[in-house]
Amino acid sequence: MTIREILNEATHSFEAVGIPSARLDAEVLLAFCLKLDRLEFLKNPETKISKTQLADFKKIVARRLKWEPVAYITGRKEFWSFTLEVNQGVLIPRPDTEVIVEEALNICRTQNLSKPRILDIGTGSGAIALALARELPDAKVVATDISPAALIVSQKNALNLGLAKQVEFIQGDLFEPVNGIFDIIVSNPPYIADREYQELPPGVKDYEPKEALWAGQTGVEFYEKLIYQSKNHLNENGWLLLEIGARQEENVRKIMEDCGNYNSIDVRNDYAGLPRVIKGRKKVSG
Ligand code: SAM
Ligand code: GLN
Repeated sequence: MTIREILNEATHSFEAVGIPSARLDAEVLLAFCLKLDRLEFLKNPETKISKTQLADFKKIVARRLKWEPVAYITGRKEFWSFTLEVNQGVLIPRPDTEVIVEEALNICRTQNLSKPRILDIGTGSGAIALALARELPDAKVVATDISPAALIVSQKNALNLGLAKQVEFIQGDLFEPVNGIFDIIVSNPPYIADREYQELPPGVKDYEPKEALWAGQTGVEFYEKLIYQSKNHLNENGWLLLEIGARQEENVRKIMEDCGNYNSIDVRNDYAGLPRVIKGRKKVSG
């Protein structure tokens, strides 16, 4: 079979089960299977592939047909300006999460923080912590996760990106393993409520770690803890930035306001126009 034929066949089978990005998935997975650059092989669609290659590709297609995410099959995902290794121990970083990176960089620029100390709670693949470390070479970043499996992945990513000296990884529950005071605390915590969890698409619910997604009955459980506990780990005028779900703006803003220790509370939308990041600045005491 030629590359053109095999791509068409895989695309149709993905479409038949309702996979939204069928053509792109077929291309990315075939490139991964053939260990070729996607744009290169697309230039030569009449190239024939061997029987062994075809058999390998069919196994990959079968995995995707069961909704396994492309990133878990290829073991990689683009985030910010780099590629991260991922496996089923970590959430696949979402493009929306780049908004929290942008906001943290804005704060460093506008507040003239030249050597910020930054804490990332629940780092997963390391996405946010590593993007900030890469953009801010003088920053010192601490990244935590409760999941030892996630820390293996994030530390590997730090090594791959040459950032291992700049980012310290520690395992534990929220602030329990954290020492010191920070200029910026960022987190994309689990924020899916019980009822929403049941309705997640199969590619998310059946493959991504539940402890990365599910927060509890209401979905705001982590915000309460992060907002109340962050104030003990922030410099005066230090910033807390949290990713939020599209329908959580009002609830999380109220938690931050009620806490009483933050001012300049504001919400930033993502590129789909949905509320995505809430930020607040720790009040100066006295
Ligand atoms: N920061 C990554 C990103 O944006 O792609 C991962 C975010 S994922 C939504 C939430 C992460 O928080 C997971 O890696 C999960 O293991 C971690 N986590 C869950 N409960 C935690 C806790 N109590 N303390 C620290 N990390 C926790
Ligand atoms: N954006 C993710 C999803 O909808 C959820 C991430 C999170 O819980 N922090 O799958």
